Amino acid sequence: MPLLQPSFRGRLRLFFAVIVIVPIIAVGVVLFQLLGATDNFRLDSGLGKAQVGARNTYTEDRREAMAAMNRIRGDVQLAQAIEERDKPAVQRRLAALARANGAQVTLTVDDLDTFRTPGAAAAVASASAELQDAGGAPLGRMTVSTTTANEYATAVARQLDVGVRVERDDGVLASTIARAANTEIPNESGAEVEVGPTAYRTTSFTAPEPNDSTVRVRLLGEVPPPDRSATAIFVGVLIGFLGLALVFAVIVSRTLSSEVQRLLYAAQRLGHGDFSVQVPAEGNDEFAALGREFNKMAAELERRLEELRRERSRLQDAIRRVGESFARGLDRVGVLEIVVQTAVDGVGGDCGRATMRRRADAPMEEVANTGDPGLYHRVLHAAEAAVMDAGEAAEISLGGTSALAAPLSATEGGDRVLAIVSVARGDRNFSHAERELFSYLTSQAAVSVENVDLHETVQRQAVTDELTGLFNHRRFQEVMDAEVERARRYDQEMGLIMLDIDNFKRVNDTYGHMQGDEVLRAVARVLRKEAREIDEPARYGGEEMAVALPQTDLDGAYNFAERVRKRIEELELPLLDGEGVLTVTASFGAASLASSPQLDKEGLVAAADAALYRAKRSGKNRTVKAE
Ligand code: GH3
Ligand code: MG
Ligand code: MG
Repeated sequence: MPLLQPSFRGRLRLFFAVIVIVPIIAVGVVLFQLLGATDNFRLDSGLGKAQVGARNTYTEDRREAMAAMNRIRGDVQLAQAIEERDKPAVQRRLAALARANGAQVTLTVDDLDTFRTPGAAAAVASASAELQDAGGAPLGRMTVSTTTANEYATAVARQLDVGVRVERDDGVLASTIARAANTEIPNESGAEVEVGPTAYRTTSFTAPEPNDSTVRVRLLGEVPPPDRSATAIFVGVLIGFLGLALVFAVIVSRTLSSEVQRLLYAAQRLGHGDFSVQVPAEGNDEFAALGREFNKMAAELERRLEELRRERSRLQDAIRRVGESFARGLDRVGVLEIVVQTAVDGVGGDCGRATMRRRADAPMEEVANTGDPGLYHRVLHAAEAAVMDAGEAAEISLGGTSALAAPLSATEGGDRVLAIVSVARGDRNFSHAERELFSYLTSQAAVSVENVDLHETVQRQAVTDELTGLFNHRRFQEVMDAEVERARRYDQEMGLIMLDIDNFKRVNDTYGHMQGDEVLRAVARVLRKEAREIDEPARYGGEEMAVALPQTDLDGAYNFAERVRKRIEELELPLLDGEGVLTVTASFGAASLASSPQLDKEGLVAAADAALYRAKRSGKNRTVKAE
């Protein structure tokens, strides 16, 4: 899978990382910094308090120094030694007074010397005053301190639990943190300095000293090392949270992607045509809704497929019916019955019918129907009338019913409508697809009807003699077979007459072959006219004809032959050249099954033929019964 197009599960996890893990880390970092800031704040406020304490101590020390100075300055022996300008005496008394007061003293006597007791160089919090002699004249200056820088630093450090460094312009006087003695420390309070491995926050103040000098006191608060266990707990909780978030992300993404997977699987099965697959659809979430939609879709698809199957089987039925109709050699009406049934099935109509003309000049009549066209007569009739008017397909809607009608007009060269197929239904109009199907079916039907016509023509030609329109010899043989068989089965009589036109050769020779043909047609007409419905006249060959006479005995056959003979005799055939008329006669042989030597077709034909022969021999234009 390409990195830039992660799977659904991958995207879910990424999403979780963004909305859960990143904020947790950010919150952790902020909290951590807040904790550090609180520590520093606590430290700085501690240092602030310590500064107040250190200032107080300093002031206290100066007050002590002032008191000690007043005592030393008022000492009579010292004053006397100074007045006498006795250096050793001044030195001695000063040392004694310093010891007694626990002080360090610097004494400058004009025109004499400057005296210092031990520790005076590193004295802080000093008091200082001008000296005057008894007369009020300036004598010199005395500076007294009761604490050294070191003592002050140590005392403040002990008292306030901070590091202390004391500086003067000329350098560091004392530092309670040995390594901090040489460290550069910035003046602003709250600054942080590293001394060796330890970090300190600092604050400082300046205190005035005699002779316009100052002392800077720096306080250093140790920044406590980070609390490792707290950090560990904090980090642990953070990691725990991250872990939880991760587990949650994995579980949620698993659940979601398993739901998706299930839908995918179901869709694949559906794709392979398995409609039995159902996805769980309980609950109120989107997956349940999706599942319900999916199941609905599967059911709908199955329903549609079932519909298609039914449709297909209907079409197969229709095709089979059409096929059968060809196999059975159906007539027009048979084809129309099938077309109507197929059209109604195909477009989902309630009923349908076919109307046609039996003959070109006959009115239209209903020849096939399905359903109950009577219920839709009005709309069907209107649609059929529209077809008759326009000569093309029509659709009519009338009072909530609809009808489709199409003409079948392809036959016999004309554009006259010979047949109409129509379908109707009540509930809704026909769709475009249904109209198309109907139009297709009816155009096929037109072809089918045309085929039936052709088929009938070919069949008729196959059994008909072209010149006379009588059955031909082959058909005569078939008819004889069938009729003899039937007569025998039902134990009935059956007659047969055969005739031969007399001196026909002469007609041909005298008037021409065409005139001979006319004679043949005229004789055939007589035969057709005189024959009953069930009789079947045929041209046996040349100018010889025969008529099979079912259910007719020998006498019946004889009488029929005589009647025909007389009609022929009476014929007056106009000559083709228009000059006068022609008359002809014919000889007949009449036979019946009972009269034939064997009770079969050959016997019957032979008997009639023999009788005809005898009729010729005995003078022509007569009928002879078989013996
Ligand atoms: P008979 O009285 O003995 O029957 O004499 P006939 O002249 O009729 O004798 P035949 O049977 O020998 O002659 C039949 C003639 O019929 C021979 C043939 O030229 C003629 N013929 C056969 N078929 C047709 C046809 O289709 N049209 C015409 N014009 N003549 C035909
Ligand atoms: Mg003949
Ligand atoms: Mg003849």
